[in-house]
Amino acid sequence: MPFICENVECRAVLARGQVRSIHEDAGWCFYCPDCKARNALKDIGEPGGHVELVQPERSGLPHKVIATARPLEDGKYAAQLRVQRALGMKGTYAVEEHWEQLGVFPDPNQAVAHAKSIAADLLDRKA
Ligand SMILES: [Zn+2]
Repeated sequence: MPFICENVECRAVLARGQVRSIHEDAGWCFYCPDCKARNALKDIGEPGGHVELVQPERSGLPHKVIATARPLEDGKYAAQLRVQRALGMKGTYAVEEHWEQLGVFPDPNQAVAHAKSIAADLLDRKA
């Protein structure tokens, strides 16, 4: 299993030999050779035995979520959402899904918050 950089702008797929895992106070991690982002690692080896590092579950393929509020003519705001799913290759996103109107809110912040909560549900469900 290669490591995948968690930085959504990078998502480099890195062979294990390409990265140097280091142990910091906060735990194991590696720094992406492409973008220098810190990527957390987890030691699943036997306690006291040899170290076996994996990327934590949460670092599945990253998604790019864009939640916006579109002003409507009556002064309210429509919650809009775009989700791009990353593929396991550098620089590629799978097709984008988007929703133009998830609900109408009097306040733009509420509209964005609503769009984000939909995104969270969506990514949870399909993960
Ligand atoms: Zn990177």
